[in-house]
Amino acid sequence: MSNFHEICKQVRDAAESMLRFGLTSGTSGNVSMRIASLNQMAITPSAMTYDQIKPEDIVGMDLQGNKIKGDRKPSSEWALHSLFYQTRENVGAVIHTHSPYATAAAVLGEPIPMILAESVAIIGGEIPVAPYTTFGTRELAEAAVKACGQKNAVLLSNHGVVAVGKDLASALQCALTVEETAKIYLLSKAAGTPKQIPESALPAIFEAFHNYTK
Ligand SMILES: [Zn+2]
Repeated sequence: MSNFHEICKQVRDAAESMLRFGLTSGTSGNVSMRIASLNQMAITPSAMTYDQIKPEDIVGMDLQGNKIKGDRKPSSEWALHSLFYQTRENVGAVIHTHSPYATAAAVLGEPIPMILAESVAIIGGEIPVAPYTTFGTRELAEAAVKACGQKNAVLLSNHGVVAVGKDLASALQCALTVEETAKIYLLSKAAGTPKQIPESALPAIFEAFHNYTK
């Protein structure tokens, strides 16, 4: 199915971008895209560095975790990706990273408050944090989805980040925004006490973002 090959190329390209933007190193992190017509997803393979992955290394799976296409072993976090697709109809792509500033913020185990307007607009408010669970487990998937709610990103305590979007470009933008926000947050926290954007300013932020993106 050529359409599947095209989807695999897009997933591979997003994984390469994740590496190029410094959101991952080595084999950490993973990327997937929903294949809506088949109720499946295409996901990066386990334990391969992102500069080596070819489109044919991407794995096709159903949302229950059965492999449909590909010779590689799927990412060990496939359950995390599939649970977002099962519970969030508007999510078309999921990116999980261990990007350094966001992971440092995740080690603090607290949400990142609303400190930057663009970040608030893209993520949907503060960046929530899921409690610590073991990587690669159903518990991690459930904790991430629950803490994320309807937002577009969630920190995983002592682990990393999950960013979602309607497509791969949006999910990647969201992962970059989380990293940038975490960097500014940690710098401002080191210099003093970060001030939040006042609640009363939020409607204007969401309206301006809506007008900007439509
Ligand atoms: Zn991870």
